[in-house]
Parts: sequence; C-alpha cells; structure tokens
Amino acid sequence: MAKFNSSKLVEYLLKNNVVFAPVERENELLFQEIHDPKEVSSSMRLPKNSFKPFLLPHDEVLFDFENPKKKKKISPQVIYGISIVDLKALILFDQMFAKDPHYQALRQNTLIVGQCIVPDDPKFLNVFEENILERLKFDVLIDRCRKGEPKIFTGSRLGQQTLEKFGFTNYEHVDFKGSVEGGKLDPKSQKLKEQMKKVINDKAFWEKFAKDCIMCGKCTVACPTCYCFDLVDEGGEIGKKQAGVRKRRLSSCFYDDFASIAGGENFLKTKAERLRNYYMHKFIRTPERQQILGCVGCLRCFQVCPVGIDIRKILEAASKVK
Ligand code: SF4
Ligand code: SF4
Repeated sequence: MAKFNSSKLVEYLLKNNVVFAPVERENELLFQEIHDPKEVSSSMRLPKNSFKPFLLPHDEVLFDFENPKKKKKISPQVIYGISIVDLKALILFDQMFAKDPHYQALRQNTLIVGQCIVPDDPKFLNVFEENILERLKFDVLIDRCRKGEPKIFTGSRLGQQTLEKFGFTNYEHVDFKGSVEGGKLDPKSQKLKEQMKKVINDKAFWEKFAKDCIMCGKCTVACPTCYCFDLVDEGGEIGKKQAGVRKRRLSSCFYDDFASIAGGENFLKTKAERLRNYYMHKFIRTPERQQILGCVGCLRCFQVCPVGIDIRKILEAASKVK
C-alpha cells in the first residue's frame, strides 16, 4: 500500500480547486490561498486567522438590484489543514447558516481537510474530548499527532471519493454522530453556562475586565465563531440607470454603533456592556439555542487583543463566584 503523501494530495487538489492552507508569511502563520504545495506550512500551530473568510467573506455581495436572481459563480475550494478547534467552530457555522443560501453555496463547494493541530493551551475548554472525530464535520482528516506515519480519516462520501480518485485507500471512515451526545449540552459546558449566569448581571465584574478595552473589534475578527454582520447597499445612481449591490459586511459587537438604532437609542452603550454581550452570546445564548458553546477555546481573541484581555482570566474569575 502506497504511503500517504500530503504534498502530492495538495498538488492533486490544486488541479481543480482554489486551495487555502496555513502558510508562513512575515513570521506569522496565516490561512491563505496557495498555488504550490511547497507553500503549505508543516507547523502544527494554530494559524492566526481561521477558515471564516472562505465561507463568510468579510465583504460579500449578496445580489445586485438590476438582476437579483442572477446566480453567483462559485469555484470549488478546499480548506486544507483546518484544526480541530476550527472544525468545532465550523459545526456552529453550519447550524447557524443552515438556511442561508449564500453560505450554503460556498459550503457545498468546499472540501474540508482537517489536521490534528494543538492550540497553544489545549487544556483550555478541553478541546480534545474522547471520540472527538465523530462529533466533527470534515471530509478528510490527517492525524499526525501520533508517532510514525500519519493516520488518515474520512468523514464523508466526498472525502472517500476524493482520496480514492487521488489513489489512496488506506483510510478509516468515521461517521458523523451529531455535534453533541444525545443532542444535549454536555455537563462541563452546562456548568460553565450556569457559572457565567451568576456574573452576567454583575456590572462591576464587566467594568473591571472591560476598563482597558479600546473597542477595536480585533477579537471578533479573529474569533472563528463570531459571525455578526451588517447589510449595506452600495453603488447605484438614480437617473444613471446604474443599479447598486447589497452586501453583507462582517461587524463587531465592540463597535460603538453595533447596537444603535434609528432615534438615537443604543443598546450597548458602554465598553462593559459590550464585553458582557460577547460573553453572554458565547456562554449563555448560543448554548441555550444550539446546545454547544459559542467558544471553541482557540485563544485567538487573547492573542490579537492589543491590551491583553484574556478570556481564561474572565472565565476563571466567573468560576470563583459563589
Ligand atoms: S477562545 Fe476567543 S477567539 Fe477562540 S472561540 Fe473562544 S471567544 Fe472566540
Ligand atoms: S481585541 Fe481587546 S481591545 Fe479590541 S475589542 Fe476585543 S477585547 Fe477590546
């Protein structure tokens, strides 16, 4: 049986797809489009950015007003080397955007190739639970976390077909068994949610942690589970017969106009209210609605924060409240 050769697989995928993979650029590990297998980083670190822009572009034209039913041309794409934590975030996106035709058009044209990448602090939120693979959606997964030859898994028929056409059949197939056991929030996440409820209305708690926040929104841009967006209309001039376009543009709950409405009201006026909203969404609202946490423990929010606001410290402080 031929050995698995990841470089050859990337070369094969590049023939018919746009491929995104982790690359080293200016001392940073970033997910970017590649054109050559040699560009793919062999680092087992988590890239600074996530898969998010490839499935939910930062600035996406939804339709143009002249021809709103015109279908967008979508090229088949591969997200190669996506980590376990980002695969968890992908589950959340798939649930959240299940009925969104724009997300689904991209998602249906995307092959997901996962990698066993360990985040800097794997104990945070215990990202490696037992039998994690059957709770994730991927097409192919390359597991180099053990010694010796990598072990190759498939998680979909598409993954199996891709590997077979490529000429590799020595894989193990894992059936998806749902994002959470029994369709219910797991006990650890339930405990975290209950603990967060104890502090959610404690004004002083949020003021203390938000005092240094400069409301730059970097944490939400980097976070693989943040998806809030604005709808904006652009272009189009009356009298010039030029139609405009409607776009969705990613936004951040830290921006001061995020929750402002006509008439001047703003539902998130202060820094503390915005930080509280971020945590409420991830640790209370999302688990109540979707039975999974809205945080996958990647720590990107902390790594990009210019003032070092650390999610671990906030959760630790919340866990001590009686
Ligand atoms: S650790 Fe931070 S960036 Fe990562 S998923 Fe959780 S909130 Fe988002
Ligand atoms: S990255 Fe840090 S400073 Fe910027 S909005 Fe987020 S918490 Fe505030």
